[in-house]
Amino acid sequence: MSAPQHERVIIIGSGPAGLTAAIYTARASLAPLVIEGEPSSTSDQPGGQLMLTTEVENFPGFPQGIMGPELMGNFRSQAERFGARFLTEKVTRVDFSARPFRVWIRDDAYTADSIIVSTGARSLMLGLPEEQRLIGHGLSTCATCDGFFFRGHHIAVVGGGDSAIEEATFLTKFAEKVTIIHRRGEFRASKIMQERAFSNPKIEIIWNATVSAIHGDQKVEGIELTDTVNGSVSTLPVTGLFIAIGHRPNTDLFSGILDMDDTGYLMTVPGSTRTNIEGVFACGDVQDHTYRQAITAAGSGCMAAIDTERWLETQHG
Ligand code: NAP
Repeated sequence: MSAPQHERVIIIGSGPAGLTAAIYTARASLAPLVIEGEPSSTSDQPGGQLMLTTEVENFPGFPQGIMGPELMGNFRSQAERFGARFLTEKVTRVDFSARPFRVWIRDDAYTADSIIVSTGARSLMLGLPEEQRLIGHGLSTCATCDGFFFRGHHIAVVGGGDSAIEEATFLTKFAEKVTIIHRRGEFRASKIMQERAFSNPKIEIIWNATVSAIHGDQKVEGIELTDTVNGSVSTLPVTGLFIAIGHRPNTDLFSGILDMDDTGYLMTVPGSTRTNIEGVFACGDVQDHTYRQAITAAGSGCMAAIDTERWLETQHG
C-alpha cells in the first residue's frame, strides 16, 4: 500500500464555515484540502444548508440579495483562487488519537497536521416526498432567513418546541396569520414561550395534527392535515410552511472522539474554535446551536483558520 497523502490542514465540510476557513488557510499558504461532501438532497452536501435555499438577503455585501447556491459557488471559487484543493467525497472514518491525524475516504487514507471540522447541522424534516421539491419555494426551515418573503401571507409552522414558537412569533411580523400545527395536545416549549404564542392575536394553534401532504407543484399552495386522535383529514390553504421540529448536528463521525454536548453538538473552548483534541478545531453550525446563520458560521470559520495557523506555528516553529 502506498503512503497516505499528507496535508498541513484538512477541512471536513464545505458550508460557509468550512469555505471561509479554506479561504483563510489558503491565503496563509497552508494549501488546505477540503473534503467537501457528496452531492445529495440533504444539507451535508457540498456547500451545506445554503444549497437548499433560494434567495439570501441577509448576507452582508449583497444589497440586491444572492441565490444560496451562487453565494456558495463564490465562496468556493475564492478559496480555489488561493490554492485550496477539493475532494467531492464524504469522510468515512477519522482517527485523532495520534498525530499526524488520520482521515479516510473509504479505503483511502490521508494524514494531516491539523483538522478543521465544519460538517454543519441539518434541519429535521417531516419525511414527505414533496419536501425536496418545494424547499425554497414556500417551504422553509429558517424564519430568520425567509420570513421576509411572506409579507401578508397565511403561513403554517410545524412543531411544538421553543423553536416552533420562536419562529411563529417572529413570522407574525410579516405574515397576516400564522397557524402552528402540533402533533400533540400540549406544547413541549417553555411556559414563557407558550404564553407568547397564546397571547399573540396573529397566531392560531391546531392541536393533535400532523402534516400528511404538501400541495403545490412549483410552490406551496396548501397542506393536508391528519388529526392524530380521530384520523380525519383536512386541508389548510397556506402559502408558506416552516418546519421547526429540531436540528441535528452532523457529528456521527466524531462520536467517542470529540467532546459533544448532550444533543451532539461539538464543544469548543469558549472564545475559540479549539476542541478537546489539540490541533483539531471546529467551526460553524456543528458547534453552534444558537445563531445558525451563514454569516456567523463564516465568522467562526475565519476564527478556526486563524487558530489553526497559530497552532501550527507553535508546532513547527
Ligand atoms: P425540540 O425541543 O426537540 O422540539 C421539537 C418539536 O417538534 C416537539 O414539539 C416535537 O413534538 C415536534 N416534532 C418532532 N418530530 C416531529 C415530527 N416528525 N412531526 C411533527 N412534529 C415533530 O426542538 P426545538 O424546538 O428545535 O428546540 C431544541 C432546543 O433548543 C430545546 O432545548 C429548546 O429549548 C432550545 N431552544 C430555545 C429557544 C429559546 O429559548 N429562545 C429557542 C429555540 C430553541 P413532541 O413535543 O410531540 O415531541
